Amino acid sequence: MRTARRCESPNFGARPVGVEPELIVIHSISLPPGIYGGDAIERLFTNRLDWDAHPYFAQLRGLEVSAHFVLRRDGELLQFVSCAMRAWHAGVSQWRGRAHCNDFSIGIELEGLEGEAFESAQYDALIVLMRRIARGYPIRGVAGHEHIAPNRKRDPGAGFDWARITAALRWPRTYFPEALAIGA
Ligand SMILES: [Zn+2]
Repeated sequence: MRTARRCESPNFGARPVGVEPELIVIHSISLPPGIYGGDAIERLFTNRLDWDAHPYFAQLRGLEVSAHFVLRRDGELLQFVSCAMRAWHAGVSQWRGRAHCNDFSIGIELEGLEGEAFESAQYDALIVLMRRIARGYPIRGVAGHEHIAPNRKRDPGAGFDWARITAALRWPRTYFPEALAIGA
């Protein structure tokens, strides 16, 4: 994305042959949890986090993960992995009966704390980003990490306003059944 600040992550691989991104996965992250504005997310996603810098970071030791994008609290967009590639953001996951969501998804992290609210600047930037992604790829669904890995993950959580993005995007409601609880 031209408007993104690039922070290249090594935590990606090729998508399976013939597989294109069809799903956008919304995540939330803050490091340490609830603390905003530092560089720990960038460091985690580029394997440069000092595990000893905060007690919480100890549990992240050795983790090799990255989303494609991060949206900071002020709406700044960071890109870690090309959308054409398979970023390591979803882990063990399943969407509409299909496992390995990393194969066919694009991951967007909003700086935030699961269960808490997000900023207007983040929604504005997210909507622009999602529209751009959908112009380049055959997107046909949007889900939270909590919807594709319900036994492990709770992000982005109840503070994320799904109605706000569905109203702004005007995409079919069938793109969001898990999030809007209208039945998968
Ligand atoms: Zn997540």
